[in-house]
Amino acid sequence: MISIQDYAPIVGQEVIDQLRQLAEPLKGLKVVHVNSTKEGGGVAEILRMLVPLMKELGLDVRWEVIRGGERFFECTKGFHNALQGKSVVVHESLLQVYEKTNEQNAEDLRSVLEEADVVFIHDPQPLPLLKWCPNRKGKWIWRCHIDLSHPFRPVWRYLRQFVADFDASVFSLADFAQPVPHTMFLIPPSIDPLSEKNMELSAQEVNAVYSRFNLDKERPILLQVSRYDRFKDPVGVIRAYRLAKNFAPYLQLVLAGGGATDDPEGEAVLAEVNAEANGDPDIHVLRLPSDAHTTINALQRAAYIVIQKSIKEGFGLTVTEALWKGKPVIGGDTGGIRLQVVNHHTGFLVSTPEGAALRVRHLLQQPHKVAEMGVKAREFVRENFLITRDLRENLSLMVSLSFGDEERIELEMRQ
Ligand code: UDP
Repeated sequence: MISIQDYAPIVGQEVIDQLRQLAEPLKGLKVVHVNSTKEGGGVAEILRMLVPLMKELGLDVRWEVIRGGERFFECTKGFHNALQGKSVVVHESLLQVYEKTNEQNAEDLRSVLEEADVVFIHDPQPLPLLKWCPNRKGKWIWRCHIDLSHPFRPVWRYLRQFVADFDASVFSLADFAQPVPHTMFLIPPSIDPLSEKNMELSAQEVNAVYSRFNLDKERPILLQVSRYDRFKDPVGVIRAYRLAKNFAPYLQLVLAGGGATDDPEGEAVLAEVNAEANGDPDIHVLRLPSDAHTTINALQRAAYIVIQKSIKEGFGLTVTEALWKGKPVIGGDTGGIRLQVVNHHTGFLVSTPEGAALRVRHLLQQPHKVAEMGVKAREFVRENFLITRDLRENLSLMVSLSFGDEERIELEMRQ
């Protein structure tokens, strides 16, 4: 069982002391997080670590997952794509399934939700729950992890009516936000340096992935870890690899994905990827179970360069994970990748397969540059994107919502 104190050697004792101090006035607060999947995807990753730490700090925290059928997830996948800018018309009958599913989930969760002091609703899937909790006593916060900068308007208009009733919204970046009729907070996501996904591994554990996936230890690996989703542009990654392969025939490509249970489009995208790979023995298209955290950790460590060629991205936790492992990241110039990939320092921002191939070539020719950028990458994450910073901001948010009416909130902030 990981304790908050275990983070002290990584972030410093002062940071831990400050978290304890910040949590003091929140002891016993009833907090409920609600999302739509226990495993796979960025939201589940964050909750898996944030929830136990908040509990340890004395808050009374629960994590609830709403249940839904195929058509519910078809609908919310449509929302997801539409909110990220695609013109998706979500049929009226699917909207009914969406609302009905939330109504049914509210039946099971109502007493917990109405009694809570603070409820965090993650992403659009559980948004209508609030409507079915008329006697709620706490503050409700919509935690949006999606890039809402250019939503398809009809879908946003529909969802906004549910959002409007909340007390506050949280976005990952200012650029991702839409006007909402309540307080808006900005909290970039984070990773847990002690989780299976990010903890240090022995050489033996890293080496295990070479034989397991038939990779050549002597040749550099280019890696993308992502759900099979068009916004992650896996086909563009294969094109970039092919261009790079022209001058570096020894290059290997690993695409690792699969997992999220709320993504019915994955199969179709996987088929497109396999067609594009066209039997190339140096392209390894892996389908991993959703709990393959150590495997992903080892692949990220075994990689020479990590790529995340997304065309649209929320925050891009896979980028944070790779940077933390000292790998420069070639990232799509979009969303939260821009916040993490500091061009020429922690990696390179690219917009096309050609651009990505050029950067791959550059780094293959200059191993010292890879090492230099890797050191900067890790430090950048230590400063900005670890769980301790995320926890601090979430606690601050709850303090401000719970004591916001008081004239003065005494907090001794050292950082
Ligand atoms: N992930 C995983 N298995 C996969 C693909 C991704 O465990 O097959 C993890 C990945 O390591 C990261 C998260 O899921 O922690 C994906 O978060 P990100 O923000 O990159 O993208 P999202 O899937 O939320 O769009």
